[in-house]
Amino acid sequence: MAFDIKLMEILACPACKGKLDYKKDQKELICNFDRLAYAIVDDIPVLLESEARRVTEEERS
Ligand SMILES: [Zn+2]
Repeated sequence: MAFDIKLMEILACPACKGKLDYKKDQKELICNFDRLAYAIVDDIPVLLESEARRVTEEERS
């Protein structure tokens, strides 16, 4: 089962409550405001600030 894109409508960044961008290639949810990337593990987004990865400057387009 793939990650359900419809979930994006109800998901929000736990840090800023803002919208998240789904990066299909990385299987991550990106908060552009906080520059955090939340991993999707077994189709479940891990929306924990402590588990999030920092988005580097090079990754931003
Ligand atoms: Zn955020």
